[in-house]
Amino acid sequence: MAHIGTLFIISSPSGAGKSSLIRALLERPSADGKLQVSVSHTTRAMRPGEADGVHYHFVDKEQFRSLIDRGAFYEWAEVFGNYYGTSREWIDEQLAKGIDILLDIDWQGARQIREQSPSAKSIFILPPSREELERRLNARQQDSAEVIKGRMDKAVSEMSHYNEYDYLLVNDTFDHALNQLSAIIEAERANTGKQAIRFQDLLSGLLAE
Ligand code: GDP
Ligand code: ADP
Ligand code: 5GP
Repeated sequence: MAHIGTLFIISSPSGAGKSSLIRALLERPSADGKLQVSVSHTTRAMRPGEADGVHYHFVDKEQFRSLIDRGAFYEWAEVFGNYYGTSREWIDEQLAKGIDILLDIDWQGARQIREQSPSAKSIFILPPSREELERRLNARQQDSAEVIKGRMDKAVSEMSHYNEYDYLLVNDTFDHALNQLSAIIEAERANTGKQAIRFQDLLSGLLAE
């Protein structure tokens, strides 16, 4: 089935602010059901304040392996010693309905999605400095000092993949980054091929002899 919606891939080093930006984007009136975030499966432990089926579908390693075997994932990757995967079925349904989908996934997942869906658009988010990245990871108060150290250690190698992405944002002033992200999504919605499908009836009326 033709996909009218667009698949947006958003990656950043952990703590750069992608979850906060995605949440704020979905709360904007312009999102209005036209934009949804994919809920990944993960084998990592649930953090305080997270809910199963909302932030992630939390599964154990055995369940994750059986989902891989069934071909349920568009992509999956091991990140920070846990498995993360994006499920295929729900995404395909939304895209066919013309709903845009945001994927909060790492660079390994982004590569797999690009191979399967060349029309996906990808956005990389940088922190304004290393110091600020570390400050945000601490400010979030969600991870132990050891986990934060691991995420800081991985940040440089993650950021080295920035040039594989279509767009590069610096999340310094939150509202500025949010406006830029929103502008990218709105512009893509106006893609001629996609609008031609959405506005088929309008176009045939306007162009009738
Ligand atoms: P990451 O991309 O590696 O950080 O992983 P997630 O996307 O799962 O991280 C988001 C986590 O940070 C979630 O557990 C959120 O509850 C938490 N978080 C994000 N923004 C805020 C915020 O503004 N305040 C608080 N208190 N927690 C936040
Ligand atoms: P990620 O999902 O990329 O790991 P989060 O969205 O969880 O990052 O953000 C990490 C922390 O930084 C959160 O506490 C969030 O509130 C804060 N944060 C995000 N963007 C900004 C910003 N532009 N300025 C200051 N703090 C920010
Ligand atoms: P966290 O454990 O902090 O929620 O996420 C850790 C990292 O895993 C983040 O960089 C996030 O983008 C990535 N991630 C979350 N879900 C998926 C997924 O379904 N696939 C891939 N490849 N990465 C994911």
